[in-house]
Amino acid sequence: MSYLSKWFNKNKTPQSAPIPGTSQVANSEGGFVFAVDDWTRLDRFLILGSEGGSFYATEQKLTRENAEGVLRCLAVDGRRVVDRIVEISEAGRAPKNEPALFALALAAKLGDVDTRRAAFAALPRVARIGTHLFHFAEHVKALGGWGRGTMRAFARWYTEMEASRLALQAVKYQSRDGWSHRDLLRKAHPVAKDDRQQAIFHWMTKGWNSVGEVPHPDQVLAMIWAFERAKSLREEKDVDLLCGLIRDHRLPHECVPTEMKRHPEVWEALLPEMGLTAMLRNLGKMTEVGLLGTLSDAERLVVSRLEEAGALRAARVHPLQLLVALRTYAQGHGEKGKLTWTPRQRIVDALDGAFYQAFEAVTPTNARTLLALDVSGSMAGGLIAGLPGITPRVGSAAMALVTAAVERHHAFVAFTNGPYRSMYSARGFGSGISALAISPRSRLDDVVKAVSDLPFGGTDCALPMLWAAENKVPVDIFCVYTDSETWAGDIHPVQALRQYRAKMGIGAKLVVIGMVSNGFSIADPQDGGMLDVVGFDTSTPSIIADFATRSWPVG
Ligand code: CA
Repeated sequence: MSYLSKWFNKNKTPQSAPIPGTSQVANSEGGFVFAVDDWTRLDRFLILGSEGGSFYATEQKLTRENAEGVLRCLAVDGRRVVDRIVEISEAGRAPKNEPALFALALAAKLGDVDTRRAAFAALPRVARIGTHLFHFAEHVKALGGWGRGTMRAFARWYTEMEASRLALQAVKYQSRDGWSHRDLLRKAHPVAKDDRQQAIFHWMTKGWNSVGEVPHPDQVLAMIWAFERAKSLREEKDVDLLCGLIRDHRLPHECVPTEMKRHPEVWEALLPEMGLTAMLRNLGKMTEVGLLGTLSDAERLVVSRLEEAGALRAARVHPLQLLVALRTYAQGHGEKGKLTWTPRQRIVDALDGAFYQAFEAVTPTNARTLLALDVSGSMAGGLIAGLPGITPRVGSAAMALVTAAVERHHAFVAFTNGPYRSMYSARGFGSGISALAISPRSRLDDVVKAVSDLPFGGTDCALPMLWAAENKVPVDIFCVYTDSETWAGDIHPVQALRQYRAKMGIGAKLVVIGMVSNGFSIADPQDGGMLDVVGFDTSTPSIIADFATRSWPVG
């Protein structure tokens, strides 16, 4: 080959240079990749967030870049941004609601008139609980403060909420992050619709003068009464009385004085009405106090609740929350503090099963699916949505298992570009592909460990396609889980894919599952056989399945 066409070749270009005729951009490693459009990046931000940053970008930088991306989307179509925020937030597709609240605040404070109106109207749908509202208030403050529209939106949040829900918000989340209901009510000045609402507002701002021994005659206000009563019950002799209040008035665990949380009876009273998220967070505690004993009713209740796919989704329990709960519970101690417990096997198994149930249901396509995990060094940096222990590398493995659980014809490979011995390499070294002995039958926390123990190396995202071509592995769809920070190969991933298609005579597709909220992708947006999706979107496995069955013109 002439040196000229070696360096300017559409079919084989080193990753350190752009493919001629494309608009590729340099990634953080100086490798050339495609830029995702701002709408894809908006999805990445809403789902993956920027908390904890990434291997390459600090939390500050990643947040800034994403916020600027949101602003560009707002300038093009503010209404579409608001609709997307509501869609992802309401469906519980993201592990945390925080990016949605922030993006909504950007729309509410920096959008045009129409967008601002739409954003404020959407507030109760995105800020569904008191804590969300406090976060939104903090963002509003940072983005320009309180105008009339802001005041009206906050006032409506209070006046339009159904009374029993409002009372629950009042006792559950009194203040967070320097904001309280009292602060918000004083700023928003809502006019109560009726006496009952007025009484709740009054309690939120000033409290009640005295709390008698007889329950408030109004059923909703009686919850607040019960909360006030419960506050003073702190001794062993009060356990029965407290349990009675919890059962009669459906008090949440936030209303129970800390010293009473060592009694199993108290947890037994709380459990039937406990939300799923609270249940997940308190599994260790309930085990420690002895409530979840062998063959106990409580354990049976916990397991059956974890087995109800519909309830998990209705409560917006995200699979990543289940993964974090499983890891924490199975290790028998909390992330901080002194709480320890002996994990109950049935609960560990139920959490493992619940992880798969929490995704949108997927119909098998029978496509030959290669699940290719980028295990290079950068994938072990940063955390997905700031969740403890969930690096992009760990998240990829868990995510790939979901597709593996549905698609019978699947294989796993892990790729990096390192000098270590690899079982697939003819020469024994340097192919950068290694087999991954994981399966949906393995327990998730074991998978996490298996993936964490793999060697690190550089990044070459073309390797899965090169390996499949070299070994004549028939693949209909390559699923590559990566941050698209590829740089090490002498051919681009899309070129390797096109070579694979030509050599094997298979119109193979490529799905890039983006595990970091950066702006990069190895997928060519001009190629109908390639798709970008967001890692840890609960819809991702069904989007992949849908794409696998779609026909496209081979080009
Ligand atoms: Ca990398």
